[in-house]
Amino acid sequence: MNNNLAIEPLGNWFPGSDKPLVISGPCSAESFEQVIETARGLKKIPQVKVFRSGIWKPRTRPAGFEGVGIEGLKWLQEVKAETGLLTAVEVAKPIHIEAALKYGVDILWFGARTVVNPFTVQELCETLQGVNIPVLVKNPLNPDVKLWLGAIERLNKAGISKVAAVHRGFYFYKHALYRNQPMWEIPIELQRLVPGLPVICDPSHICGRRDLLHDISQKALDLGMDGLMIESHINPLVALTDADQQVTPDQLSELINSLTVRQVSGTPEFETLLEQLRREIDKIDAELLDILAKRMRIVEEIGHYKRENNITVLQIRRWADIIFDRLNIGSRLGLGREFLLQILQLVHKESIRKQEEIMGLHDDSESGQ
Ligand code: PEP
Ligand code: MN
Repeated sequence: MNNNLAIEPLGNWFPGSDKPLVISGPCSAESFEQVIETARGLKKIPQVKVFRSGIWKPRTRPAGFEGVGIEGLKWLQEVKAETGLLTAVEVAKPIHIEAALKYGVDILWFGARTVVNPFTVQELCETLQGVNIPVLVKNPLNPDVKLWLGAIERLNKAGISKVAAVHRGFYFYKHALYRNQPMWEIPIELQRLVPGLPVICDPSHICGRRDLLHDISQKALDLGMDGLMIESHINPLVALTDADQQVTPDQLSELINSLTVRQVSGTPEFETLLEQLRREIDKIDAELLDILAKRMRIVEEIGHYKRENNITVLQIRRWADIIFDRLNIGSRLGLGREFLLQILQLVHKESIRKQEEIMGLHDDSESGQ
């Protein structure tokens, strides 16, 4: 657990920053008209408190639109003056930070391609030393919770306490439904490591397409995330970047109004019953672990017996029979097939590992760091 981080609750950041905080605006600032028209549309949505816009764009190949640069910061000043929305931009170099601060940007964010590189993150944090500005940290492209945590720790060491994580999904080499895999377990693990860390979901970069935004946004809220960052554009069809995932301000309004915001905690009666049910789960988990340990002890016994009799560790017929039998039982008990299969495979893997250890065959190349 990481109790030495000083993280300010999101609700203290600025008036109206309570949960769920909605941040919206174009992937990239393209022209003054596009920026101001988008902001005017967003201003009509009461839940939107922050206007985001990419000014410097990290592009995979150099021919892509690389952003309008400092000119765009002047447009953001206009947005703030006219609409009162706070402004947020991505910064990836010290000169970006200096320019953003000079033009009065309210919130900075580190992009996914920046967070993968501790050298860059360190350099940015040094530039921010002594500056009291909120910083959002997108997850790194790869599902490495420590890299994500490291960026938050570096910011905190530089004196930044208004820090939030942004969950934007993880790169996956195969074509899949989502542009970036959500892997919800990663932001959940980050929250476990940094209690009190606000986490904002970025459904736009997870989905890569408009039609999936609702379900991912709802799931983020159901998991208790603190806000949403959703890309919007006055005319998404002609957007220079991320055209497939941006929505118009009107579509965003519809999307937000279709979401159900649930409470994190309920009435005292609800909490009491929940507590009772949780105690039952605790008891059952203890029993499960006990049974698992008993099973492993027998696995070890079998391992010794096989060694004495010079028998192979893996007997494929036995393994096939186990899978067949346990899946049948599981199906009668209403357990999900895929879930049970994964558990059986995990238990089997550990049993093989233990027996190999007993045989003196253990190869620890897979054990990780
Ligand atoms: C963005 O927010 O437009 C962006 C480039 O995001 P990411 O760093 O998550 O890819
Ligand atoms: Mn984008």
